[in-house]
Amino acid sequence: MIYLDNGATSFPKPPQVVRAAEEAMVRAANPGRGGYKAAMAAAEIVFDCREQAAALFSCKPEQVVLTANCTHGLNIAIGSLFGDGSRVLISGFEHNAVTRPLYARGCKVKIAGRRLFCWEELLDSFRRELRQGVDGAVFTHVSNVFGYILPVNEMAAECRAAGVPFVLDAAQSAGSLPVDFGALGAEFIAMPGHKGLLGPQGTGLLLCGDPGKPLLFGGTGTLSREKTMPEDLPERLEAGTVNVPGAAGLAAGIRLVRGMTPEKIFARGHGQTMACGRALEEMGYRVFTGPHQAMTLSFQGKADCEEIAEALGSRGIAVRAGLHCAPLAHESAGTLEKGTVRISFGHDASPAQTNALLRALGA
Ligand code: PLP
Repeated sequence: MIYLDNGATSFPKPPQVVRAAEEAMVRAANPGRGGYKAAMAAAEIVFDCREQAAALFSCKPEQVVLTANCTHGLNIAIGSLFGDGSRVLISGFEHNAVTRPLYARGCKVKIAGRRLFCWEELLDSFRRELRQGVDGAVFTHVSNVFGYILPVNEMAAECRAAGVPFVLDAAQSAGSLPVDFGALGAEFIAMPGHKGLLGPQGTGLLLCGDPGKPLLFGGTGTLSREKTMPEDLPERLEAGTVNVPGAAGLAAGIRLVRGMTPEKIFARGHGQTMACGRALEEMGYRVFTGPHQAMTLSFQGKADCEEIAEALGSRGIAVRAGLHCAPLAHESAGTLEKGTVRISFGHDASPAQTNALLRALGA
């Protein structure tokens, strides 16, 4: 199979990740729940995962909270900062993992930037909304539908200057674009462990610059006499047993990413994305590419998007069609009615993958 659905999750997982997760299941028990060897082994695995993330994202290990996925982290971040009536600024390219928690909490959502690949229009509307007053901003780093990279460093800096909390959704950038927690000065950065960081499904990270409010309450293995959750991170936001095999696999995945370097991963994926876009255009497809493109692109053909994806699937090419859990992004780009076919490259992007896709489309 030619796998071009890395926007959903990276697949297959590298052997080092599989081995680390498997080994954890036979070697490690429950971290922080005992002083015996297997419990200590689990604590070491979890700490190693925090250390790997801290090294990649320039933060402290205790600021790294293990989550079940990116959605989990975004829910903690949004629940910590906002409530009923909070005015929250987002881009026109957010995933439902941002919009649904905001609406569920009764936030007043304001949208900045509706034009695909246009930083000028985004920054103009962002500044206008910031001047009018907002209680916070939640922005995706990269659109999961179009691979559009947003100017998050500029926006985070302006939020810092205005004293407005900033949350970054790094679902599509962690592992392939620079994400520097210290430099960004964000309150929270949420990311999956299972996409660009190459970890197992069911893993995620929340980098915290704020103590946050727990989403779940329960045992942490610390301060057991207290009726309330501990004040200290990461335990404060990690009630219950953490996913130890997941943390082991994720630590192995982050090690691989650090070894390959996000810069080289990006250069490979971006190169194939642009080559693929040019070839699809020559074949008569409507291709959504532009400046500020990451490792993902969307296209439309004469046939229905689902039909195109199904035909590709039957030829062994895995892509995703439809709305990609991001109706707002499709609304902004004018593709809400038909949806798009999405191609998303991963750390293993290669000309062979691009050629196989193009051949399957009849090139
Ligand atoms: N945000 C964006 C931009 C995404 O692309 C995704 C998943 O595709 C998510 C959030 C949610 O990630 P997860 O499935 O890990 O919860």
